Amino acid sequence: MRIGIIGTGYVGLVTGACFAEGGHAVVCVDCDAEKVETLKAGGIPIYEPGLEALVKRNVAAGRLSFTTSTKEGVDKSDVIFIAVPTPPQPDGAVDLSFIEGVARDIAAAMTSYKIVADKSTVPVKTGEKVAETIKRYCKAKVEFDVVSNPEFLREGFAVEDFMRPDRVVVGVASQRPVQAMKEVYAPYNAPIIVTDIHSAELIKHAANSFLALKISYINAISIICEATGANVQEVAIGIGMDARIGRRFLDAGLGFGGSCFPKDLSAFIHISEHLGYDFRLLKEVQRINAEQMDRFVKKIIDTLWVLKEKKIGVLGLAFKQNTDDVRMSPAIELCQRLQKEGAMLRVHDPKAMEKAKAVLKDVTFVGDMNAVADGCDALVVATEWAEFKKLDLERARKVLTHPILFDSRNLFDPMEMERLGFIYKSVGRFRQGLNYEL
Ligand code: NAD
Repeated sequence: MRIGIIGTGYVGLVTGACFAEGGHAVVCVDCDAEKVETLKAGGIPIYEPGLEALVKRNVAAGRLSFTTSTKEGVDKSDVIFIAVPTPPQPDGAVDLSFIEGVARDIAAAMTSYKIVADKSTVPVKTGEKVAETIKRYCKAKVEFDVVSNPEFLREGFAVEDFMRPDRVVVGVASQRPVQAMKEVYAPYNAPIIVTDIHSAELIKHAANSFLALKISYINAISIICEATGANVQEVAIGIGMDARIGRRFLDAGLGFGGSCFPKDLSAFIHISEHLGYDFRLLKEVQRINAEQMDRFVKKIIDTLWVLKEKKIGVLGLAFKQNTDDVRMSPAIELCQRLQKEGAMLRVHDPKAMEKAKAVLKDVTFVGDMNAVADGCDALVVATEWAEFKKLDLERARKVLTHPILFDSRNLFDPMEMERLGFIYKSVGRFRQGLNYEL
């Protein structure tokens, strides 16, 4: 198939590279000329495991190219995917101006039948508006179909998720685009669910809200664990082994963040309200999430008392491991909260330091994770990078002014930390679990 992708960010670039890997001819479009230049020169503007090799291989094979011209992207494609941002507005509603702009650009460029598939996360009924817009602005008056094709990839595992999706959702208004969409996804051997457009759009918001709900649920359980001496990791394993529940997204911590969950939850609450339903359940999910951060900051203040001029080392800035994305990162929020209390920070992240420099000011960025603790009053783990588990704890204990470690991601074993001489505070547990085997 000939495929165009409008918007070459975390979703668009991964989608483009994976479609090319599947044998399709792909043109990725982005309005950011610098990004397109970087890509054309062989650079990769984001960190995503496996992506660089995939992009290079497919560019070399002539299946993947980059341009700033939507017209070129449309001309060279039968199916055009929209993967532009859908950021939140202050009231929680989605700013759909990027989508509307792209719909107009596509309409202006169309000279023959096209399938326009929306991959951006949008509120239910957006597809209708996209179709209306294309119809209004398409001078050539050619036929087209709008499809809703929400994306479920996770940053940090994006290539893997795209190549082996649990399911592909295709929302259509008629049968006409179904066969072509099936051909697009044929190389990935995934179950394809064909629905109407409204349902497809709802599936994405409903799925992300449910995952956020799971995280808030286990975070609420962690409060009960702390009040009783139970261990939230044992509880998560115990409930997660029930196939009806599942273990994933049951890790207590700082709460969810990133560019999707917070905004998608707000958007879903907002569109529900607009449709006449007060989604109180999801409002509570948001409240628990915000409180989880408050509780962790309080834990630090309760231990260190006055933070003014205290030196704190922070491990992790990305919103989760395996990504350089710091958008709505709880780790960044934690840093800013500590700075507000007057703390001076030494910070490290394996991949996200460059992106963090744009949002985190007046901190010392440290290249070596083991050097972060040097001269600090305490150390904080803020992102669950697996490599932090290999931190030289003996060294950290010696170089910290006081051997205090706050672990918001439950990376370490409380008993071992105690044995090493740390004052160790994590989330929802005081002791290591018993002898469970996983
Ligand atoms: P992003 O900011 O990384 O990328 C968007 C890209 O679109 C940017 O490179 C931007 O320059 C470009 N762009 C903006 N307007 C454009 C225009 N008019 N023409 C061409 N390019 C334009 O965003 P993202 O994280 O890839 O998210 C894109 C969409 O996918 C959002 O709706 C998001 O909610 C959804 N989504 C994201 C993820 C994720 O993990 N990041 C997962 C699933 C769905």
